Amino acid sequence: MNYTGPGLANEASTPHRCLDADYLALPFFDDRHREVAARLESWLREKDAAIEAALAQSPKEATRRAIGLLGEAGWFSAAVSESIDYRIICIVREGLAYRHDLLDFAFSIQVLSALPLVLWGTEDQRSQFLPGLLAGRRIAAFALTERESGSDVASVALAATPAGQDYRLAGEKNWIANADIADHIMVLARTGAGTGPMGLSLFFADASTAGLTAEAVELIAPRPFGHLHFADCVIPGGRIIGGNGAGLAVALDTLERVRMSVGAAANGFARRALHEARTHVTRVRATGTRLADIPVVQQKLARMAVALHTARLAVAQAAWDMDRDGGSRCLTSSLAKLHATETAQSVVDDCVQLHGAAGVVSNSVPERLYRQVRSLRIYEGTSEIQEAILGEAVTYGFLG
Ligand SMILES: Cc1cc2nc3c(=O)[nH]c(=O)nc-3n(C[C@H](O)[C@H](O)[C@H](O)COP(=O)(O)OP(=O)(O)OC[C@H]3O[C@@H](n4cnc5c(N)ncnc54)[C@H](O)[C@@H]3O)c2cc1C
Repeated sequence: MNYTGPGLANEASTPHRCLDADYLALPFFDDRHREVAARLESWLREKDAAIEAALAQSPKEATRRAIGLLGEAGWFSAAVSESIDYRIICIVREGLAYRHDLLDFAFSIQVLSALPLVLWGTEDQRSQFLPGLLAGRRIAAFALTERESGSDVASVALAATPAGQDYRLAGEKNWIANADIADHIMVLARTGAGTGPMGLSLFFADASTAGLTAEAVELIAPRPFGHLHFADCVIPGGRIIGGNGAGLAVALDTLERVRMSVGAAANGFARRALHEARTHVTRVRATGTRLADIPVVQQKLARMAVALHTARLAVAQAAWDMDRDGGSRCLTSSLAKLHATETAQSVVDDCVQLHGAAGVVSNSVPERLYRQVRSLRIYEGTSEIQEAILGEAVTYGFLG
């Protein structure tokens, strides 16, 4: 239920101007991207009732339905089928995040989980699993993190012990998106000896595997999420993606390639926050005055717009870099993720502040954005990890 009281637009009444012509006219984009953005705008308008109906369900059911709607409309295939277009991934994420967090969430995890198959899967693996994922008929999760190895992915401990042609997986994965609704799980496990970066392999496991169970965890921004328990689960060796021992390289490369798209989602939240703030402060109040006419309020709006503008430029450049040069341009991807997610946090906070008490009412749009934007600075590499990457790059002359 969304609060629609004084001064707050509700979800359905907000026009979906999620992507603007000025941004898409930048030389980073071409006609293909402008066409995708226009198609996304009309799709969001046409499917508004179905989207609203999906979002009214529990987070698990809403995500299932959102994945179905996105798949049916071809949004997964537009981003990752024959070739991967990182600018399309970013445009779609910004547009969906502007509309609602769960739409972006549904899109992003499916794309993240499909990427290793597209980039490193065998012909057999691709033809067996990609069609279901891209059509939104099957749901995927991407499970790297464990309680004691989040930022330090190389220390993953989940054991994968060889047993003939198969592997027996024993251990846990924690804090995993879609854990409790996925049909397939991309899971990083230790097939080799030792505790270091070597000896890790990426498996594409079926969630129905005997011994594999999910434990739901509730978040401040509700979504399907939780821990996965592997109790001696038998996974065929043919389910290894990218070769035995290549798991860490494949997983990290996947994250690096789409890191800037987390920034794109952050921009979607921030732009929505700026628009909500503008709507609120330009209302004529009972006193006949507008908040927008107060200089301090205008200064806040200016700061929000400047921060958002630079964050959008950073994401556009990073996606363009990735489309040109694949994995060799991951620094701008890190920079864009760091800058856009930190920026979105402060823009959304300013939006709440400009709404006054109305901004902290449960399920109002500002309050919802406030909860939803927080985790972007944590997942797919925390802000501190991005700072470490960028700081090292500056030190050795690769940046700046
Ligand atoms: C909403 C959400 C969805 C997620 N979805 C997934 C998913 O689908 N799949 C998945 O595998 N994981 C997922 N995660 C987990 C996420 O990737 C981890 O939370 C993240 O990598 C951080 O790991 P951690 O939580 O163990 O924190 P830690 O790594 O323990 O970090 C705690 C703090 O210490 C800092 N820190 C740690 N190491 C360093 C360092 N070397 N230098 C500087 N600072 C450091 C961190 O920046 C952070 O501030 C998700 C998390 C969230 C919140």
